[in-house]
Amino acid sequence: MYAEVIMDIAAAEVDRIFDYDCGGFDIKRGMRVAVPFGRTRAEGFVIGIKDSTDVPAEKIRKITSVLDKTPIITDEMFALLDYMRTKMHILRVDILRLFIPAAMRGGRVKELTRQLAVLADEYRDRNPDEFIRKGALAQRELYDYLSIDKPDGEYVSELNKILSAGALRNFAERGIVRITDAEKRRVPYADLPVSEEIENFELTDEQKRACDAIGSASGQTFLLLGVTGSGKTEVYMRCIKKALSRGKTAIMLVPEISLTPQMLRGFRSRFGDDVAILHSALGQGEKFDEWRKCLTGEARVVLGARSAIFAPLKNLGIIIIDEEHDQSYVSERNPRYVTHKIAEWRKQYNDANLVLGSATPSMETYYSAKHGKAELLELTGRVNRRPLPEVRIVNMCKEALRGNRSIFSDELTSGLRECIDGGNQAMLFLNRRGYASYVMCRMCGYVAKCERCDVSLVYHREENRLKCHYCGNMYAPLSECPECGSKFIKEGYVGTEKVADMLSEMFPSAGVLRMDNDSTRTKGAHARILGEFGAKKADILVGTQMIAKGHDFPDVTLVGILDADMSLHVADYRSVERTFQLTTQVAGRAGRASSPGKVILQTHTPNHYVYNYVRNGDYKGFYEKEINLREVTKYPPFSKIVRVLVCGKDDEKAGGVLKNIYERISAIKESRNEKFIYLAYMRAPLRKIMDEYRMQILARLVTDSDDVEDAIYTAVDECRVAGITSYAETNPIKLS
Ligand code: ADP
Ligand code: ZN
Ligand code: ZN
Repeated sequence: MYAEVIMDIAAAEVDRIFDYDCGGFDIKRGMRVAVPFGRTRAEGFVIGIKDSTDVPAEKIRKITSVLDKTPIITDEMFALLDYMRTKMHILRVDILRLFIPAAMRGGRVKELTRQLAVLADEYRDRNPDEFIRKGALAQRELYDYLSIDKPDGEYVSELNKILSAGALRNFAERGIVRITDAEKRRVPYADLPVSEEIENFELTDEQKRACDAIGSASGQTFLLLGVTGSGKTEVYMRCIKKALSRGKTAIMLVPEISLTPQMLRGFRSRFGDDVAILHSALGQGEKFDEWRKCLTGEARVVLGARSAIFAPLKNLGIIIIDEEHDQSYVSERNPRYVTHKIAEWRKQYNDANLVLGSATPSMETYYSAKHGKAELLELTGRVNRRPLPEVRIVNMCKEALRGNRSIFSDELTSGLRECIDGGNQAMLFLNRRGYASYVMCRMCGYVAKCERCDVSLVYHREENRLKCHYCGNMYAPLSECPECGSKFIKEGYVGTEKVADMLSEMFPSAGVLRMDNDSTRTKGAHARILGEFGAKKADILVGTQMIAKGHDFPDVTLVGILDADMSLHVADYRSVERTFQLTTQVAGRAGRASSPGKVILQTHTPNHYVYNYVRNGDYKGFYEKEINLREVTKYPPFSKIVRVLVCGKDDEKAGGVLKNIYERISAIKESRNEKFIYLAYMRAPLRKIMDEYRMQILARLVTDSDDVEDAIYTAVDECRVAGITSYAETNPIKLS
């Protein structure tokens, strides 16, 4: 027998199938094996078994060992592998690596096995007096314990803690007890208190309608458009329950950042041991165990971030993508994929349902729902008829004219005071971390920049350092200008760190917490900050977009958006859409319980149309306005943007690769001109990151152009050169 093996080596040169002699091992497709490879040993994935091979006998080598007892890649995942390879142009090994926990490779993490003692069946219903001597109390005790308290068995280590080890040995020798190896699971968040309130409320009419529609469908895609606080999570949980009751399994995806303890608690209390949790903050061992629970069928529900879409559950009944518009669903690193596409594929394979949920769906998703590709379900009101918060638009230009140059408008300052005095809580949103966004010389205009990247540095006061947000490099702060020697150094825009400082000064008795990439660097910091805020140990939470999603703090009555325009002025066709989504999501944190909420949105362009829709909570109005603009300007969903990015330390060499690719694409354009709206090459807006020069080709294609898109991807594949990174992406979330 011969095995077809894909090497676990990430290089395009070895992305092909190697045949090996099974060497007498009982090998199945989907297992991993160790094999001789060149002059070394390598691990590989068996993707097929066959009787014969074209490789000459003297060249064929034997498998050294088998790394798995049973296949770890399911048939479905093999089919997905094919799809991702041909449609997304990803190397097989990169795809296979997505399918299994990283720590499994190289045998770094294994199942923990423990010895389990179980009463042998033939002794279960017998009278113990027949085989236990009178007076052998320890044996009698052990027998009772195993037959009454632990009919499914107990770990030997646990038994030895409370009962006689001698009695157990005796039973094992006589065959009264069987001792086997059992896999033991590391359980993440095992100490999480489980909440009591399970399904004790009536669904609203709208929730009921959504549940019924999803529950009676199969193989369908739904868009659940529900305002913030409308109870989408409840709909998800009931739909999952329904799927389980039909013997199916479920995947629920949320943005990494909203995998809050609150969310975990909800799922744990509803689904108990049926839930596996998959996200990046888990330890390697935990991740591995949760993943195995999916593979073996011990877990039937997966709750996780993006990569949980690859969970090896069998017989999927429903896939849910919450906050579907969130950018974290697009993998921006190799392997690049869009979670929605994978979800759509698995939906079809399993004849399952796919539910996309959001208060602010992406333009593409809503557009496809309007054109019949998804069924629209709506939750138009908050639960218990709570009103959406009042949104006040504050014109910061007017504030400046009145002499208030601070980042806090008078209305926000008095709002904060009122909120704190009333015993409520406030959240302040500013999408800029650090203390000051750039440092500039007032005399000559010098701006401190990173040596390795084409970006300005950000001052961080805690570390008293200038930091590069792209490569993490740190520099000493400037006391004088390195160009002209002047001591007039100006700090740029305020960041979250400075806002937190300013708040502590303005409200000395108030507790202030800050949540951004800097304050959540350590494991568990994220949950700790949210926990403290939830327990009302602080009055104000300041943060970046990390605080925008999913949180449900009943005492938050005021939300301040300090600089709403930040995302508006990015040179990207999606900048208005992002601004709408972000401000609506942040605003949605206010007034979720009995006290009404208020949002103060500070802007320098109060007349921009986007704020009107934010104020009215009018997603559909916004959509209509924006979709018209997209149609006129021919941007997605009315076109496809394919960007090819080439980067490398050697500017000239990278330029050569770019030119090669461009020539090929130009040749394609020659024969298929009608599919192209635009084609050009240029330096990328960020010209250099981590010492690598970046350049790009931008192609805008009509929507009906899958073959041209594929040809562009192929052109990139064919022009790969060692030392230069090059890849294509379609409708990338960042055009920098
Ligand atoms: P969304 O995800 O739509 O923003 P959530 O799912 O967080 O909203 O729901 C907001 C709150 O309302 C949660 O605390 C939830 O437990 C509660 N809730 C959901 N459905 C109902 C209902 N039918 N009746 C009362 N409370 C509900
Ligand atoms: Zn200077
Ligand atoms: Zn840098």
